[in-house]
Amino acid sequence: MPRAIGHQRQHRLFFRDDHGSGLAGGGGGLARAIPAVVPAKLGHRLAGLDLVPDLGADIGSPTWFRGAATCAALCAATWMLAPSVDQPILGIAPAPLSGKAEQAQQAQAIAPLASGSRTGIHAAPTRLVQPLGDTPERPIIEHEAKLGSGTMLRSVLQRSGVGEADAGIAARLVADAMPLGSIQRNTLLEMTLGRRPDKSQPRPLERLAFRAAFDRRIEITRTGAALAIKSIPIAIDRTPLRVQGLIGSSLYRSARAAGAPAKAVEAFLRTVSSRVPVSRLGASCKFDLILGQARAATGEVQYGQLMYAGVTGCANGIKLAPWESGGKTEWFDAGGTGGKTGMMTMPVNGRFSSAFGMRTHPILGFNRMHKGIDIAAPYGSPVYAAVDGVVRVAGRSAGYGNLVRIDHGSGFGTGYAHLSKILVRPGQSVRKGQQIARSGNSGLSTGPHLHFETTRNGAAVNPRGVSFVSVRRLTGGALGAFQARLRSLMAVPVGHGAQPEDAE
Ligand SMILES: [Zn+2]
Repeated sequence: MPRAIGHQRQHRLFFRDDHGSGLAGGGGGLARAIPAVVPAKLGHRLAGLDLVPDLGADIGSPTWFRGAATCAALCAATWMLAPSVDQPILGIAPAPLSGKAEQAQQAQAIAPLASGSRTGIHAAPTRLVQPLGDTPERPIIEHEAKLGSGTMLRSVLQRSGVGEADAGIAARLVADAMPLGSIQRNTLLEMTLGRRPDKSQPRPLERLAFRAAFDRRIEITRTGAALAIKSIPIAIDRTPLRVQGLIGSSLYRSARAAGAPAKAVEAFLRTVSSRVPVSRLGASCKFDLILGQARAATGEVQYGQLMYAGVTGCANGIKLAPWESGGKTEWFDAGGTGGKTGMMTMPVNGRFSSAFGMRTHPILGFNRMHKGIDIAAPYGSPVYAAVDGVVRVAGRSAGYGNLVRIDHGSGFGTGYAHLSKILVRPGQSVRKGQQIARSGNSGLSTGPHLHFETTRNGAAVNPRGVSFVSVRRLTGGALGAFQARLRSLMAVPVGHGAQPEDAE
């Protein structure tokens, strides 16, 4: 009985002890519990035995060796009981999917496309969705394509799905009606492709329509097996566009706001400014311009040339219209006066060093007529033609050195002397401001300069007194015809131009 009581007591002790802290505290608890499972006599002997001695203390003592051996034995037992590294620990894995379940799983799964995944590409058939054996076709296809250039018509049709035969016929029909090359770039082709017997065949061309020209539309339609072409003219209204308004603070802006296209306003400004400085036109002046215009019945508008430029309602008023006379189109005012032409330009950049007239020659030493003016310029400076003309002389000429003479018509001429290099040849036409030579010091010259002469009927005249300005005048029948033209222009009604598409 006392044993039983002791046994119970020991049990109570074991349970009352905290297991974790007992181990951590050197196994005191466990050591005290051991006697409970051994006979009382042995338990008495083992009561003082520490099964888990602290290996950090009493190193080398029998107790320590016993503890080390216990530790080694435990490690060895653990090592022997553990599974090896290369042997997997078997667990329960689900069986691989197959059939519809696999398809459904793949359709919803995420996997790299590079690994052949069909994620999101194809829905797996389900009870509600069944794959179709054949897809239905649209009965007709309406299609638009842009034509790079007319000669590409056939290939553009073929690229748009028209069969080779139909595309060939259509291109030939159009080519018979008009030169393919005359079709504007980027023309929009409208086409209708019809039903085909089966998918191996191209769809037949049912209709092809496009704007072949500003005043023409072409339609190709199918009747039965044949394609027929129809050329439909588009009505064009060629009434010129007339725009008027107050100049206000800016002629350009006012004209643009009134509906004149930008190019027409620029041409108007160029034309008017050749007669009257635009800055001198007051805000209360009225501008009046007429330009060619073609309006298609379908709404498109094309603008043409400026036909009239006028400023009215103030002191500097002017009325100008172009008129062809002598093979040249020029702007004339109401009185038949053309623009000034032929203003001289400086033949070389430099300063005047010697004037026209009698002087003591710097080299010859005696009084002699100086038949031109001298302009001092660095050696090799570009020499320009002073006025439009034809080169008459280009070469060496005694005291002049290298000389160029240009004929300007009406008995007028210019000469350029002491040149270092001549860049034109006799008979060549030159424009005002065109470089004809390089200045120099050739001939009787004391330093680099250009000797510039003007001649009238071969005789030298003072360039100061020469005006090359020529004004063309219309007279007689030409003047009458021009004024009749001006009157007809004045009858053009003031129209409302299209809204400026690129207004500021
Ligand atoms: Zn000179």
